[in-house]
Amino acid sequence: MNITVFDAGPFILDGGSIFGVVPKEKWGRFFNVDEKNRIVLGLNVVLIQFKDRNILVDCGLLSSKNKILEKLFELNLAPESITDIVFTHLHFDHCGGAFELRYDNIVPVFQNAKYYVQRLELENALNPDERTKYFYNTSIASFLSRYPETVVFDESFSIEGEVEVIHAPGHTEGHSVVMVYGERLHLIAGDMFPTKYHFEKPYYMTAFDENLKQNLKTKNEFLKILKNRKSTVYFYHQPETQFLEI
Ligand SMILES: [Zn+2]
Repeated sequence: MNITVFDAGPFILDGGSIFGVVPKEKWGRFFNVDEKNRIVLGLNVVLIQFKDRNILVDCGLLSSKNKILEKLFELNLAPESITDIVFTHLHFDHCGGAFELRYDNIVPVFQNAKYYVQRLELENALNPDERTKYFYNTSIASFLSRYPETVVFDESFSIEGEVEVIHAPGHTEGHSVVMVYGERLHLIAGDMFPTKYHFEKPYYMTAFDENLKQNLKTKNEFLKILKNRKSTVYFYHQPETQFLEI
């Protein structure tokens, strides 16, 4: 089992949107802001390799594709060798880099991969409301709903008993996380813990979190699981510190 994490960013976003009601006086200690109050975040793609599987968890923005391919090239992996793509959810900053636009059509970058997505997540991305339409790319959702290699799951599924994808609602209704079982427990948290600050203080919520109460409940459930085991947690948006060993 080999796990590699790399940044397909940067992702530049209003600092306040990542910290919700947390005052800038607090989060401003962790990040430098530019003249527009924006901060630089990461897009930390995780590659899990075991047996003949090469699994990517989340893929950055549409513009992240080249960065991902360069990193795979460095690792001696052709795009065709990616076997599975897991999306923690379908916000544009998590699924974009797995696709490219060709003459206005969405095409998959990883031709031999299965694409996994939670059922509610796909439904909500296909039918966004006035607010969520800014977070979802409906062309990608619509492509996935028609693509024969898309695998839609409900509560959880396992890849050969070693990697488990688990519905973990809160950030979005269909948000999921990935657990990798080995000597250590690896939790790839997606936007459940977008930065280490949201992990250290689970009540820190982003302005994009849909259901705050549910999100806190889900975070606490996973924190409980981590507590009793040697674990590694991966933060999708944390620049530099892409994971913590606890
Ligand atoms: Zn995100």
